[in-house]
Amino acid sequence: MDEARLAGACARWEGALAMVMMNVRRKEDERPATPWWQPREGGVMTRDTSAAELYEFIREIRAVDNHTHANTVVSGDTEADALPLEVLGDFPVPVTLKPESPVWLAAYRALYGFSHEELSDAHWPELRDTMREAAEQHGERFPEWVLDRIGTEVMLANRVAMGPGLAPPRFRWVSFVDALMLPLSTRAEAAATPERRKLYPLEASLLRRYLAELRVGELPGMLETYLRTVVLPTLERHKRAGCVAVKFEAALLRSLNFADVPAETARAVYARYVHGGEPSRAEYKALQDFLFREIAREAGRLGMAVHIHSFEGPGAFYEVAGADPLLLEPAFNDPSLRHTSFVLVHGGGVFAAHARAMMWKPNVYVDTSAMALIYTPETLAAILRDWLLQFPERVLFGTDAASFGPDTGWELAAWIGTTQTRTALAMALGGMVRSGEVSRVRAEELATMVMRTNAGSLYGLSLGTQGRARESEVVPGLPSREDPPAWS
Ligand SMILES: [Zn+2]
Repeated sequence: MDEARLAGACARWEGALAMVMMNVRRKEDERPATPWWQPREGGVMTRDTSAAELYEFIREIRAVDNHTHANTVVSGDTEADALPLEVLGDFPVPVTLKPESPVWLAAYRALYGFSHEELSDAHWPELRDTMREAAEQHGERFPEWVLDRIGTEVMLANRVAMGPGLAPPRFRWVSFVDALMLPLSTRAEAAATPERRKLYPLEASLLRRYLAELRVGELPGMLETYLRTVVLPTLERHKRAGCVAVKFEAALLRSLNFADVPAETARAVYARYVHGGEPSRAEYKALQDFLFREIAREAGRLGMAVHIHSFEGPGAFYEVAGADPLLLEPAFNDPSLRHTSFVLVHGGGVFAAHARAMMWKPNVYVDTSAMALIYTPETLAAILRDWLLQFPERVLFGTDAASFGPDTGWELAAWIGTTQTRTALAMALGGMVRSGEVSRVRAEELATMVMRTNAGSLYGLSLGTQGRARESEVVPGLPSREDPPAWS
């Protein structure tokens, strides 16, 4: 073929390719927003080659899960959350979290080898037996068995305390510190909503527990003494017990707007009410704001990150506007807090773009937890793509795996959140490769950062040198193209 003809052929081929790509994109735009776990023609992964290939890569990355409430093997474990959702009573729960959602069926099939296509009443006894047998067979190693099934190397457990089955190096503790911010009577705070009425007493009893652990009989009369004999020793205790981070669930209790309050203001409020009386809400806010920054500063000094719940739920009286990451900007801009790493747990949810805006601060991270359970992979993929374009070194994988009821244990939620995030990440990165934003090689680097190494560096984890499941090894519980996934 002479040069002119070759050039002509190439041009025609390029033209044809461009047409094909346009059609592919148009088809993608038109494609109905069916959830990924429902059967689709050919299965979701075959529609987009780069996403399918990236998924195969991503499923083999041994993950670090930034946020869960994994249970111990103690039956009736009650320490998985300082503010357990059950106490809120009845409130509307997203359909995706309900047992009838098809994601749970997919999880039963993947984790426990449940073989039926639907969950009829007749199948429940068999399924419950299988789950009970797995728990009995693995005993104290059950939580670790779960991590091996889902390809997770390290899981952070945000709990009041750790316990049997949740030991390092596979499980790392994230403690709760809101109680330290609440040394005065919370009667007025609790009266603000019917849900807060149930939540504040839990914080009061957690503070009593912290005092008992330090053998402090009663709260000291001066703020400085409170900081020196209660706040700091509690943080140090948590650090010694292996905490990699401390967590604020403050958004369930109040707004995330933590002002810069002069010490003398906080000192006066503390001294006036610590031994009785009801502070006004403005007075208490000033003290809490002061304590929040103190706790965050000290946590940073001790080498623990600060996790902050930022999401549109839970609860029927939850104040969504008070959970906006933008409210944290004054705290993030406090120069004395720049040595503290903050993680916006749940990535701000509906405020994911605001979370991204906060990532201009060098010490602010986001994770995918809760979104991984509640949003579709398509929605999460769009969020991830925005984050990854701008600040990929501070995006963390997380699930928010927790027990959602007797038949919907944390291990199933962990499978769902892990599978959905791996799928969403493949979609986001596939799109980025297709549109030339990143190379295929860079996409694999980004996937490894999100799933594993970003968290490894943030918490100084000594991760195994084997960052991926070995070639011959298949992560047993995760769907693949060869081993037909639950959705096809
Ligand atoms: Zn959580």
